[in-house]
Amino acid sequence: MNKHLVRRLCDEFPRLIYGLDLSAVPDGWSEIVRCLAAELTHLETEWMVAGLKIEAVGKQHGRLAFIASWKKASPCPSRSRRLDEIKRKFSLLSEQTCEKCGEKMPVGPEGPYCPRCDSDSEIPF
Ligand SMILES: [Zn+2]
Repeated sequence: MNKHLVRRLCDEFPRLIYGLDLSAVPDGWSEIVRCLAAELTHLETEWMVAGLKIEAVGKQHGRLAFIASWKKASPCPSRSRRLDEIKRKFSLLSEQTCEKCGEKMPVGPEGPYCPRCDSDSEIPF
């Protein structure tokens, strides 16, 4: 992700984003990372557990993946389940978002071919 986009996220979520390596996240997914940071921040309030940290965020098997942890939270099945739901949600969202321009794309019955819109996809030879 380019510096400009990282700085914008940093301004909005300094504690979560500052120091986080976003080099593996494509530019087009910056809005997804913004939504993810907002959702995790909300979760922190809802659970009343401080110390939330995004350990890593990147691209895995063509989709957005992240690792989050709570310094002060003891592991609990319902929280893990909720976090898994969020992981699935954002992974799916990244499948439907062009990694270059951020355009939303419909996903066909056999799933996305690649996470790029028509104007950004290179024609395979
Ligand atoms: Zn695009």
